[in-house]
Amino acid sequence: ELRVWMLHNNSGKECCWVHVLNCCKDKQENQPFPTIKVPAVVPLVCWSHERSYSFRLGNFAVDLQAAGSDGIRLTMESALTARDRVGVQDFVLLENFTSEAAFIENLRKRFKENLIYTYIGSVLVSVNPYKDLEIYSKQHMERYRGVSFYEVSPHLYAIADNSYRSLRIERKDQCILISGESGAGKTEATKKILQYYAVTCPASDQVETVKDRLLQSNPVLEAFGNAKTLRNDNSSRFGKYMDVQFDYKGAPVGGHILNYLLEKSRVVHQNHGERNFHIFYQLLEGGEDDLLRRLGLEKNPQQYHYLVKGQCARVSSISDKNDWKVVRRALSVINFNDNEVEDLLSIVASVLHLGNVQFAADEQGNAQVTTENQIKYLARLLGVEGSVLREALIHKTIIAKGEELVSPLNLEQAAYARDALAKAVYGRTFSWLVNKINKSLAYKEAECPGWRSATVLGLLDIYGFEVFQHNSFEQFCINYCNEKLQQLFIELTLKSEQEEYESEGIADEECLRPGDATDMTFLEKLEETVKNHPHFLTHKLADQKTRKSLGREEFRLLHYAGEVTYSVTGFLDKNNDLLFRNLKETMCNSENTIINHCFERTELTDKKRPETVKVRPSAFNRKFLQQYPYGLHMRCACLSSCRFDEVLIRHQVKYLGLMENLRVRRAGFAYRRKYEIFLQRTKIFIRFPKTLFATEDALEIRKQSLAITIQSWWRGTQGRRKASKKKWAVETIRRFIKG
Ligand code: ADP
Ligand code: MG
Repeated sequence: ELRVWMLHNNSGKECCWVHVLNCCKDKQENQPFPTIKVPAVVPLVCWSHERSYSFRLGNFAVDLQAAGSDGIRLTMESALTARDRVGVQDFVLLENFTSEAAFIENLRKRFKENLIYTYIGSVLVSVNPYKDLEIYSKQHMERYRGVSFYEVSPHLYAIADNSYRSLRIERKDQCILISGESGAGKTEATKKILQYYAVTCPASDQVETVKDRLLQSNPVLEAFGNAKTLRNDNSSRFGKYMDVQFDYKGAPVGGHILNYLLEKSRVVHQNHGERNFHIFYQLLEGGEDDLLRRLGLEKNPQQYHYLVKGQCARVSSISDKNDWKVVRRALSVINFNDNEVEDLLSIVASVLHLGNVQFAADEQGNAQVTTENQIKYLARLLGVEGSVLREALIHKTIIAKGEELVSPLNLEQAAYARDALAKAVYGRTFSWLVNKINKSLAYKEAECPGWRSATVLGLLDIYGFEVFQHNSFEQFCINYCNEKLQQLFIELTLKSEQEEYESEGIADEECLRPGDATDMTFLEKLEETVKNHPHFLTHKLADQKTRKSLGREEFRLLHYAGEVTYSVTGFLDKNNDLLFRNLKETMCNSENTIINHCFERTELTDKKRPETVKVRPSAFNRKFLQQYPYGLHMRCACLSSCRFDEVLIRHQVKYLGLMENLRVRRAGFAYRRKYEIFLQRTKIFIRFPKTLFATEDALEIRKQSLAITIQSWWRGTQGRRKASKKKWAVETIRRFIKG
């Protein structure tokens, strides 16, 4: 039964409230539809421009053509028909909300209609269409601007706009968290959100510069931090947390980027079918002849050892030549002068030359450099003495009791030292680059006097969960971050006070143990420490049946996203990533300003091992939580599918915890507003504070319906707060309170 009140307010806009009374019964008797505790009265917001109606019933929103105000019946019917075809746009409205099959069916229906976005309450689920949809135009952006969440169909822009408005109205920092597996569309989503802000936020000359820089930082970071993998031709190989700062007028005035864990090992090795970071190919393909001559490079990627490991230098979906132009332009937008660009590209070139440095063993088995030409280029590009570099590549210096001991390296050690140098140079340059971008994005206080009251909107785009045939340290780190993120998400959305993982104390201690630690002793130690954990398995711990599927050098973890088997081979090396002292010293003397910046003298005197990869358990989490303790607002879960592959989708629905999410959303209130915030925002309309504040209980009962009423009213009157409206609102509230 539906009871509809049509309330005409002065503006001629129609606002109606629909009384939902057992709207449609579930199969089970006496189970009314609103098992969700939505308030008994939900607003139905209609607006009649162009005779096109959009309205919302609970969480159910529909767009309808020419359904007159006398046609509410018709409207409801049409809504239900539409639902059959395109599914529900909020999973909360699924009648059979506990069924995974129904969930997936709804996704499929929508995907077929090119509706890639669906809500679960305030969480957005998106399915990667792998084709350009016409839903990101300026007109689309305008449609979402300043409009309530449910008035328009689900979209990334709605999330972006909602966060922005919360930021402005509540003056609270916001965070949009984007998660999903590799290739699901996370990075694209981040870019689209940034574009949305760039187009829709207030502008001025200064702001335009910031907007430009925010947008242009992306191609540069992607060139240096993205690569083609088996899953994604443009896979982010680092985690990125980007802050956009807004001034009191709501204009973006600055930004800051925090980067996590660049996958440095890719510089020296790529799996079959994968590439090194884009920048190498871009430089070779797009670099002007003159530039390449200066850098001593040839156009052909096949010439460089570091570029041929994956045997796929060319990718059909990528135009390195065009991308090069984009990157070059972007570098100047983010304030790189010619010298800096030259220094930066010299480093890129030097990594390629390093990869081509070869060794041969002399009679004693000691490594000797056989490629003098490369050393010559390296010396010039890195601004170091050629002979010093050559010696540093084939010797190891140890300081023991204040004395320097120099010992020669064998072939294997020398190759290791060379690769370690390449990784260190590239990795540190990447961090330098992020710093440099941050400087160009930094808020210029003098130019923007209002900045102290700036609020911040964060975008987290990390690399997605990864499972390959062969999983090593890199996957372990990536999946660890994802696991933590998932946990954080669960804590914040499901609000259960989960205990921190006790077992996470698998500290890096093993790597700091001198000499005798090997990958296998690490595995043994791991076995010792977490053998009783139900989600951990090794060959030794496994029962007869499962043992066959596990190598002796492997361990298996049951992640939230499923089982992954990791091989410990290379774990310690990769974690230590040790750069021999003499190579460090050589780099400290570099005349290349960037390199000089990246390798500081203090490191040589520092007793600690600074090179250990910083993935101490919970470091990520702690940092994240400390900085943004309450900021998490919404998340956009992304699914990827070229076709609608049900097995793939089901797997992702499971590990993203979407069903659990839905269950929680159904059980709780559909509309959430903190009471304090609500009160803050609406108290000026309330003339009878005594009534309102007198009994907490009465308030408890009323506050949800009040919040909704006022919210919908607010939209109707925004910007035109006339006395009559105010009176109308007060009347409405009074009626509710009495009723
Ligand atoms: P992730 O960052 O999750 O690994 P990306 O954001 O790089 O994934 O997306 C991978 C690819 O999927 C993109 O290069 C693009 O071709 C495609 N893609 C992602 N999102 C969209 C979208 N909204 N519309 C069309 N294609 C998309
Ligand atoms: Mg990405």
